[in-house]
Amino acid sequence: MAQRLGRRLCESCKSEEDLPQAALLEEGFTQEDVDEGITLYKAVGCNKCAGGYKGRVGVYQVMPISEAMSRIIMENGTSVELADQAAKEGVSDLRRSGLRKVKAGILSLEELNRITKE
Ligand SMILES: [Zn+2]
Repeated sequence: MAQRLGRRLCESCKSEEDLPQAALLEEGFTQEDVDEGITLYKAVGCNKCAGGYKGRVGVYQVMPISEAMSRIIMENGTSVELADQAAKEGVSDLRRSGLRKVKAGILSLEELNRITKE
């Protein structure tokens, strides 16, 4: 299971950020997300935080182990083989998991982009 730690947006000073629909889709949000309405927040900074961030937030890649994947593991397959299989199965990736946190208003898009850049 992959994990990345990002800086959590400060609740006291985070401010709403408007992005056009096209940009949201480009960042990886689904049309469904956009239709529901997404409020993005960006870091500002106040006397209670450091540059708009306070604490940490974990972004996890949840990878359910399928039969095909456990076979690769048992046969001592490489992580590349596993990643290929995961991609084939459409496993929700780190980014989708992070986007949920962005949607929940605890992570900024900027921060997600920083921590998911390989
Ligand atoms: Zn603050």
